[in-house]
Amino acid sequence: MPLNETQIERYSRQILLKELGGAGQEKLLDATVFILGAGGLGAPAALYLAAAGIGNLIIADFDRVDLSNLQRQILFATPDIGQPKGETTAKALGRLNTDCNIQVIGERVTDNLLDDVLPRCRLALDASDNFATRYMLNAACLRHKKRLITGAVLGFEGQIATFHHGVNPAAPCYHCLYPSPPQRGNATCATAGVLGGVAGVIGCLQAVEAVKELLGIGQSLAGQLLLINTLDLVFHRIRITKNPTCPTCQRDSSAPAGFSESS
Ligand SMILES: [Zn+2]
Repeated sequence: MPLNETQIERYSRQILLKELGGAGQEKLLDATVFILGAGGLGAPAALYLAAAGIGNLIIADFDRVDLSNLQRQILFATPDIGQPKGETTAKALGRLNTDCNIQVIGERVTDNLLDDVLPRCRLALDASDNFATRYMLNAACLRHKKRLITGAVLGFEGQIATFHHGVNPAAPCYHCLYPSPPQRGNATCATAGVLGGVAGVIGCLQAVEAVKELLGIGQSLAGQLLLINTLDLVFHRIRITKNPTCPTCQRDSSAPAGFSESS
């Protein structure tokens, strides 16, 4: 749909970008993005995607706002303590931008739920906080040939990786990267701590990569893992190789060739 005058003004600073322009803005307004988790990563990602005019955001989080969340989960404020994160997220994002349709899923994510949601989305952001959920979303994105941008933080460190499910059958998946949860896999922000701004850095990067993937601009992070140590301010980018015995994507590779994105 062509942009109206209000939208041209609202998004003027990014329409000015030659890689984006009016046509790119229209694409963003037509796009649907799924975000799993409205916490430390999901909050900044959702805020920037809503502000950028992503037309439809589907956000899943079954939790309630806790006092200890407020140090990093910037969608929520002190009066929200005890409230469901889903509803509070919808209210905060709705206040930010009415161009953005927000659908909130306030229940625990399952395979069936992902099979219902993902066909409607262009791509998915993994902003969850545990390996079981990450493996589940990765497998579902493979089933539905959807791109996945996954993020994680702990302490002063963060990481982000993009997986081009549905674009390149030879591409690795999240399960190739972590065949089993790493040794620190049981550590969480609740047990090991995290600096709030580090979650902000990774969540914002997920939002930027999502816009790039939606528009097909710039260099994709697909097949690579970006590791950030903010204490030393060191960034590393490493290539992820496909695991020939990966139980998730190798099973999927028997699917017919000619992958294409369905929406
Ligand atoms: Zn794999």
